Amino acid sequence: MSENIKTYEAEGIKVYWEPNICEHAAECVKGLPSVFNTQKRPWISPENATAEKIMEVIDRCPSRALTYEQK
Ligand code: SF4
Repeated sequence: MSENIKTYEAEGIKVYWEPNICEHAAECVKGLPSVFNTQKRPWISPENATAEKIMEVIDRCPSRALTYEQK
């Protein structure tokens, strides 16, 4: 993992995002707009969905810029 990884935490999950490898494919934004919203800062709000749903959407990230850890 690079040093440039950003982390976003909520109940049950820790989300990691690596901007350098994000392809902006928007799978995350389309899959779960309540959590992944590029208009907001921070743009990831993991408290807005269940950990299960977030993991499901992160698994679709084509570049693996998004990863997670269950807490
Ligand atoms: S799905 Fe992955 S590659 Fe696509 S915008 Fe989201 S973080 Fe970036």
